[in-house]
Amino acid sequence: MNDQPTILYIEDNADNQRLVRRIMEACGYTVLLAKDGPDGIALARESQPALVLVDINIPGLDGYETTTRLRGMSHLRGTPIVAMTADSRVGARERSLVAGCDGYITKPIDPRGLPEQLSEFIGGKREVLSHESEAPLLRAYNHKLVERLEQQVRELTAANAELQELDQLKSQFLATLSHELRTPLTSILGYLDLFERGTLGALSEIQGQAIDVIGRNAHTLTRQLNNLLYLQEVRSSQIKPVPVTVYDMVLRLVAELQPQAESTGLNFEMSLQPTMIFAGDAMALEQAFRNLIDNAIKFTPRGGYIRVTLADDPARIILRVEDSGVGIPAEAQEKIFVPFYQVDSSLARPYPGSGLGLAIVRHVVYAHGGQVTVRSAPGSGSTFTIVLPRS
Ligand code: ADP
Repeated sequence: MNDQPTILYIEDNADNQRLVRRIMEACGYTVLLAKDGPDGIALARESQPALVLVDINIPGLDGYETTTRLRGMSHLRGTPIVAMTADSRVGARERSLVAGCDGYITKPIDPRGLPEQLSEFIGGKREVLSHESEAPLLRAYNHKLVERLEQQVRELTAANAELQELDQLKSQFLATLSHELRTPLTSILGYLDLFERGTLGALSEIQGQAIDVIGRNAHTLTRQLNNLLYLQEVRSSQIKPVPVTVYDMVLRLVAELQPQAESTGLNFEMSLQPTMIFAGDAMALEQAFRNLIDNAIKFTPRGGYIRVTLADDPARIILRVEDSGVGIPAEAQEKIFVPFYQVDSSLARPYPGSGLGLAIVRHVVYAHGGQVTVRSAPGSGSTFTIVLPRS
């Protein structure tokens, strides 16, 4: 434990910070530095300084406002707060006293005089305003505070409206873009189908392989576009519950995705229990389940495994997708459900994707009153669990 008296110095100028720290530390004090008002308030909350020195001219909350806030903290009731300012205009001293300071030091800092000046305040010196001057000054100070507050509220409201408008534009743009891209893609998928069925004539082996690659990539593109379109839709619409047989839905998905997993060298295991009818949005649920299995395939290197488990009881349906893949660091496990977030978002990342899959999963699951959780550690795989209540 350090039992030297502490000075909390709130100042944005690095030269002044260094100077005061050097002077006061040479005199046996510990100096805590804060670069602005909120930083100073946070530091004050967790310390018990012998004195707080506040530069008046700091960005954001100014020194007066910061002082008023500090004055309201019960553990600082007896602590001197000293203003420091280059403002030598008439009234600056009074303004700082009315804001809650106990004294006032003018800049430039006097290296020789500073320790003495501060130790006087620590020793009990307090500057006070005369009774008759205090009331009008306080009124003027309050007035100014409310004016600043009003201006900030106005600015924040305008900034918020602008952000909402931009968000709306972004959503419109994404919806238009994905519609525009889906139209040509439909025709690509149609022709691929004709090739695969042999309708357009027999293909050589190498042509067949090329068509497979085109097909795989076209389906990846379709899934990504569907996620993009879907996110725009689920954001703005309510789910429409119909009777769903989740078991059949998962069987269909597995039949579609298992060959894909096995073609990338993965072991696909499953344990599926038939489920009772569930009232839900079939398309939304299918999209969510597909995203989880897709991710498991995508983030598991060759030689690994994927296990899909479906369980059912009278109270809920539980779908679990487990993989032995790359895993997710603890600090990212909440963020991965935020739209567009990816653990590796660099353009050089080895996995394709747009960061929308899990946002959709969470949205769909919440819309059904359910929960989605993840258990994972880097290098040892991930397990995503969806629980859907039958309420
Ligand atoms: P996308 O897969 O399109 O990037 P998602 O929203 O589905 O978007 O996933 C967000 C991020 O979460 C992924 O980019 C990845 O970093 C991480 N993630 C999701 N599922 C897994 C998983 N099974 N294994 C490892 N990381 C995963």
